[in-house]
Amino acid sequence: MTIIPDALIDDPPGPRLGEVLRPGDAGYDEARRVWNGAIDRRPAIIARCRTVDEVAAAVRIANSTGLEIAVRGGGHSIPGHSVCEGGMMIDLSPMQRVQVDTERRIARAEPGLVWGDYDAATQAHGLASPGGEISHTGVAGLTLGGGIGWLSRAYGLACDHLVGAELVLADGTIVDVDDESDPELMWGLRGGGGNFGIVTEFRFRLQRVPQLLAGMMAWPIARAPEVIGTFLDVAPSAPRELSPVVGLVVAPPAPFVPAELHFQPVVTVSLLWTGDSATPPAAFAAFQGLHPAIDTTGIHPYTEIQQWYDDGVPHGRRYHVRSEWLGELDDDVVGALIACAGAMPSPFDQILVRRVGGAIADVGADATAFRFRDAAYMLTVAAGWDDGPADPHVQWCRDSWSALHAWSCGGSYVNHLAADEGADRVREAYGAATWDRLVALKRRLDPANVLHLNQNVDPT
Ligand code: FAD
Repeated sequence: MTIIPDALIDDPPGPRLGEVLRPGDAGYDEARRVWNGAIDRRPAIIARCRTVDEVAAAVRIANSTGLEIAVRGGGHSIPGHSVCEGGMMIDLSPMQRVQVDTERRIARAEPGLVWGDYDAATQAHGLASPGGEISHTGVAGLTLGGGIGWLSRAYGLACDHLVGAELVLADGTIVDVDDESDPELMWGLRGGGGNFGIVTEFRFRLQRVPQLLAGMMAWPIARAPEVIGTFLDVAPSAPRELSPVVGLVVAPPAPFVPAELHFQPVVTVSLLWTGDSATPPAAFAAFQGLHPAIDTTGIHPYTEIQQWYDDGVPHGRRYHVRSEWLGELDDDVVGALIACAGAMPSPFDQILVRRVGGAIADVGADATAFRFRDAAYMLTVAAGWDDGPADPHVQWCRDSWSALHAWSCGGSYVNHLAADEGADRVREAYGAATWDRLVALKRRLDPANVLHLNQNVDPT
């Protein structure tokens, strides 16, 4: 175990650290907790940073003491990469400023922000940039791995809106980059994860996003064949302004759910339309013609839509996730999805199939580190449980993913990879050419692999 001289923490040479928490300190247990309750690690030090100088000081101290570094943005890494056992957790959650330049349509966002706070700040001006679909997910990790959400078919990924960044590199140096000053690093930040430095400011291009026509509909699971069948009819020809997702979940006892569906398995369809709400696409009528038991279709603020599914994935529950990019689907997938849903061991399990493409596919394959721009769908199989052994849940998740793997188009979303999938799946998530380029960039910026608690690009 590394012994860290107190003087190095309390009175370091150069800039000081921010708030420091050690085991036993008030607030330590709360600060080490991440979204996935299955992760229980105890860092030797948590450096709660407020400024770029404090982040740089933390990196230098970790390097001089040999402490392993974990970087926490929003804390939603599913395998828990943002917290370490022993070592130093660099906690960016105190850094939550957003500045919106409405004239240039650029937002400057600090790395401790979650999407809910970022969206509230940008939507105050009628603007937004694509983010994730759960408002308590972090801006930082989600963007660095790609970032897919409701607005992505219309406008592209979160990382496609990244126009510049300030970073602390693995040696503690502070740099500010954009496409002119360091295009290769910008290429790597757009999908290459947290491998190249600790981002202390993101600069995002903004889109004008008014209130939107959107809805979540649900039916008892017995209706799944016709609902998924309709989804498969609608999705391939959907205009890019339409974002459709089909889900197989257990209905919560929420006020908007009829009592007879509480705790019952249901099939859901979520639709979001970024086009003119006066001229909705035929998909809304197609699904409404199937007489859903729940239908929230209406004009909604984007910030509200972003919170629709928050309660289904609360902090502290235990989770295991498998994901895959899929090609076009055929009718056989309907039975496979229903069989997987029928085997769910927990009411908190979910299977989601999201249509992708649209603006995501406009960007060239080698323009960013993000692969699978040509995928047709993204599959997410998420197991959730509150207590008891993990095995049945993890096994269901793996089995369901295996059953649906027949439609894979070659790999997973890097931000959804589970720890037990191994290094080969990380390489596969990038593909050979992108991988070689990522390794070259990593060798330039972090040859000793100081920043390795991530979907790691190992420079060795
Ligand atoms: P963290 O755990 O803080 O960080 C994740 C990784 O990024 C870690 O390796 C960490 O070290 C690194 N990192 C964090 N901050 C920085 C930084 N400033 N500089 C460098 N590296 C950093 N993904 C989507 O694309 N779309 C979705 O709709 C979506 N929904 C999700 C919903 C939930 C409930 C969850 C748990 C995940 C979801 N994801 C989604 C996946 C999500 O993109 C990843 O989990 C992402 O890593 C979360 O980022 P974070 O900042 O919250 O996580």
